[in-house]
Amino acid sequence: MTALPAAFTIGSTTAPPGAIASGALDIPARGAAPGASVPFTIVHGVSEGPVLALVAGVHGFEYAPILALQRLRLAIDPAALRGTVIMVHVANMPSFLGRTIYYSPVDRQNLNRVFPGRPDGTLSERIADAITREIVARATHLVDLHGGDGNESLRPYAYWITTGDPSVVEASRALALAFGLDRIVVDHERPTDAAASLYLSNTAMTRGRPAITTEVGGLGSASDAEIALVERGVSGVLRHLGMRDEGPLPLASPVWITRNVVMRASATGLFLPAVECGQTIAASAPIGRITDFHGRVLEEFTAPFGGEVLYIVRTPPISAGEPIGMIGAC
Ligand SMILES: [Zn+2]
Repeated sequence: MTALPAAFTIGSTTAPPGAIASGALDIPARGAAPGASVPFTIVHGVSEGPVLALVAGVHGFEYAPILALQRLRLAIDPAALRGTVIMVHVANMPSFLGRTIYYSPVDRQNLNRVFPGRPDGTLSERIADAITREIVARATHLVDLHGGDGNESLRPYAYWITTGDPSVVEASRALALAFGLDRIVVDHERPTDAAASLYLSNTAMTRGRPAITTEVGGLGSASDAEIALVERGVSGVLRHLGMRDEGPLPLASPVWITRNVVMRASATGLFLPAVECGQTIAASAPIGRITDFHGRVLEEFTAPFGGEVLYIVRTPPISAGEPIGMIGAC
């Protein structure tokens, strides 16, 4: 019989070994800018092991992961767990309650572009700073759980970041396989500067923690199948990390998406897609078009190479500079 681990504390919330405790990071108001609350749960096991951070709701309109963590909170038994799971239920509460895509309704910033954040910055920067200090710093591994945003129809996939420390990159690759989504986008272009990591998963990796980003769900929906896919992914990671005995085995042969493009609007108006997510398309195939408010075509999109539509915008509003979709190929 090994000795029980010490209690696990985040802020004023403490989980004894073999117990679950929930609390929130409190981001105070600053001058005229409001504050925010970041609810979390600690599931603390009965022996030493990895500390896995599962973060949902960095984008508050991405519901499948948020609902999956509500189920996982009840499903992970601390008495049968080695190590600790930290769940961040909704990282971006202003975006969740405000029902905004991409940006915070408070400061119009994208939380997943302001990491590692600043303690004296905008609300998004202060949320990022709190997550970096209180969650990333306490974790050994991290999964940033996303989906298609409220305007995006998405085929599930994971991102594997290849930049940075080779051992962290290799361990992150194993996390992607363990999560089990059958498309893995190989991302060679993330920053390696820990002081300007921008993305949450990158913030973990530049601090020596293996991490992945996963994408499941979209268009503001969260079907049982989508929620189950996230739960299954987490179960695979728990098994892979030796935190639980049960769980699915890592994927033996995913499709590695080695080439991808995010197509962006150069006009503002109505976007009308010509493809579905998951559709296989040939080079030069029509992807969609933007019209003005009188029906005049402003921009037409065609595929720069043949591949698969990983996500496509399926609601009409589009502003210049915003993505209209992503195409991946092997
Ligand atoms: Zn997202």
